[in-house]
Amino acid sequence: MNFELSEELRMLKDMACKFAQNEIAPIARDCDEHERYTPEIRIKAAEQGLVGAWISEDYGGAGVGVLGNTLISEEVSRVDMGIGLNICAASFGCEALYYYGTEEQKQAYLPPVCRGEQVSAGAFTEPNAGTDVAGYKTRAVRDGDDFVINGTKTFITNGSVCHWMVLQCITNPEEKRHQSFSQVIVPADSPGITRNKIRGKMGIRASDTAEIAFEDVRVPAANLLGSEKRGFYQLMHFFDVTRIMVAGQAVGLSRACIDESIKYAKERTAFGTPIGSFQATMTKLTDMATRLEALRNLVYKAAWLVDSGKPDYHLAAMAKYFGGETAVFCANAAVEIHGGYGYIDEYNVQRFYRDAKILELYEGTKEAEIMTIGRYLQS
Ligand SMILES: Cc1cc2nc3c(=O)[nH]c(=O)nc-3n(C[C@H](O)[C@H](O)[C@H](O)COP(=O)(O)OP(=O)(O)OC[C@H]3O[C@@H](n4cnc5c(N)ncnc54)[C@H](O)[C@@H]3O)c2cc1C
Repeated sequence: MNFELSEELRMLKDMACKFAQNEIAPIARDCDEHERYTPEIRIKAAEQGLVGAWISEDYGGAGVGVLGNTLISEEVSRVDMGIGLNICAASFGCEALYYYGTEEQKQAYLPPVCRGEQVSAGAFTEPNAGTDVAGYKTRAVRDGDDFVINGTKTFITNGSVCHWMVLQCITNPEEKRHQSFSQVIVPADSPGITRNKIRGKMGIRASDTAEIAFEDVRVPAANLLGSEKRGFYQLMHFFDVTRIMVAGQAVGLSRACIDESIKYAKERTAFGTPIGSFQATMTKLTDMATRLEALRNLVYKAAWLVDSGKPDYHLAAMAKYFGGETAVFCANAAVEIHGGYGYIDEYNVQRFYRDAKILELYEGTKEAEIMTIGRYLQS
C-alpha cells in the first residue's frame, strides 16, 4: 500500500498551487464582491493544461486522470472556490461526452473546451425538480431529422457563458419514468434559447449560474448523446465522476480554513497569550485537521479507483457527503477562531464560510447522498 502521489501528480499539484496563488488570489475578493465571472483566468489555466485535465490527450486534455483533476480542484478551491469552479467546471458536461459520445462528437466538442476556447455545461435541474431527477419535464420531440426542445432549466453552472450543454430531456414519454429520458447536445446559441444569469448567490459568486429557457429549439437528431431512453442512467454515471471533483473542492476549502486559522491563532492574543495556546482553540484545530486528513484519503481513493478502472459509486457519494460536512465544519470553526473579525470581509474565512455551504447542496444534496449510501449499505 502506497499513500504517496506519483512525481507527475506532485508536479501537477505544485503547478496548480502556484497558478492559484499567482492568478486567483489577487482577484478573489473583488470577483466575490462583484459576482464577476473570469474568462481570462480560464483561458490562462487552459494554456497550462488545467482545464478538462482529466480528458485523455486524444481529445485535447492533459490525461492526468480523475485523481489529477481532483488535485487541481483542491488547489484552485483552496484560494477561491468560485474562480476555481470556473476552471474545473469549464468542462462540466464533457464527462457525459467522454463516456457516451461518438468519436465524431468527442473530436468536435472536447478539444475546444480543453483549449479554453469554449465552455460546456450540464443542464439537468429544473425549477420544479432538482433532487427528483426522474421528475424533469423538459421535452425533446423528434421532428424529421431534428429534435424540437421545450422546457426550462435552472441553477445551471456556466449557463449564461457556455457554448454548448448536455441537456437532460424526455424523448420517450410513453416509457416508464426512468426510461423516458435521453441526453442531447445543444449549442447554446440555438434560436429559441433565452439565458438569464442568476445573481445574489450566497457563495461561489465568481461562478456563473443561470436559468435557461427553451422554446421550440431545434437541434439535429444526430446530437443525441449515447442511447435513447438511457439518459437517466447516463446522468447517474456522470455524477459518480463529477462528485469526486466537488469533493476535491471540499478538500481545498477545508485546507484553506485550517491554514488561515493556524496563522490567526498564532498572531492573535487574548489574556496576554496567543489564542492558539487555549485548549478550546486547539480542539477546533484538531477536529478540523483530523477531518481533513480523513476526507483527503477518502477523496483520493475514490478518484484513484476511477483511474484504476474500478469506480466505486458509493465511495464517490461518501466523498461528496463527507466533503460537504467537513468543509462546512471547518469554515464554521475558522470563523469562530477569528472571532468578530471572522464576520468581516477583510478576512478570507468570511468568504469561505459562505462558499462552503454549496458543497452540501449541488451535485446532489447531502440528503440525496445519504439515500445513495444508505440504499447501497442495505443492498
Ligand atoms: C450554485 C449552484 C450551481 C448549480 N449547478 C448546477 C448545474 O450546473 N447543473 C444542474 O443541473 N444543476 C445545478 N445546480 C442545482 C443543484 O444540483 C440542485 O439545487 C440540487 O440538486 C437540489 O435540487 P433543488 O434545489 O430542486 O432542491 P429539492 O430537490 O427541491 O430539495 C429541497 C430539499 O428537500 C430534500 N429532499 C428532496 N428529495 C428528498 C428525498 N427523497 N429524501 C430526503 N430529502 C429530500 C433535499 O435534500 C433538500 O434538502 C446548482 C445549484 C446551485 C445553487
